[in-house]
Amino acid sequence: MDKQQLKRIFVMKEKCNGCRICELRCSFFHYQVYAPSLSRIHVEKKEIEGYTNPKTCVNCGKCIEACPEQAIFRSETTGAIIISHELCKGHQDCVEVCPFEVMKFDVERAIAFTCDLCDGDPQCVKYCPEEALFYMTSKEFNEFRKKEKTKLESGEKVKPSVVPQE
Ligand code: SF4
Repeated sequence: MDKQQLKRIFVMKEKCNGCRICELRCSFFHYQVYAPSLSRIHVEKKEIEGYTNPKTCVNCGKCIEACPEQAIFRSETTGAIIISHELCKGHQDCVEVCPFEVMKFDVERAIAFTCDLCDGDPQCVKYCPEEALFYMTSKEFNEFRKKEKTKLESGEKVKPSVVPQE
């Protein structure tokens, strides 16, 4: 698997308006319910700084090393972190070790969960109304971000206002 070719979800928080549609589409795709608590993307509200920051798995793989049951592996096609329902015993070592706090635990199902890239078609990216999320390789995103930042700074695209969350 060529790491350079692997895509992951990138965020431009400057574009996020805090609507949380990404969370709802995520939970709907995975569980057929609109429930932010079951989302694999988490819109963090920075009250003082005045912006929202969507966070999701960056596929670093620290959880793979931490799992004592070898229940976590990487998808051979997308590179996403995949958790085996059969092997996960709910120790939550992966939750503790995740540097970005994006490995969560589903108490009802007694299983850890994180972004699985929706098999290569991430719903959060697809439905974000502000186009604040991107499914790209690092190289593609770095190039894209440079261009977008220049546009934002020149005022070509108006920065969205922050929507209050409950
Ligand atoms: S859907 Fe887009 S704009 Fe709305 S909270 Fe998520 S990332 Fe931000």
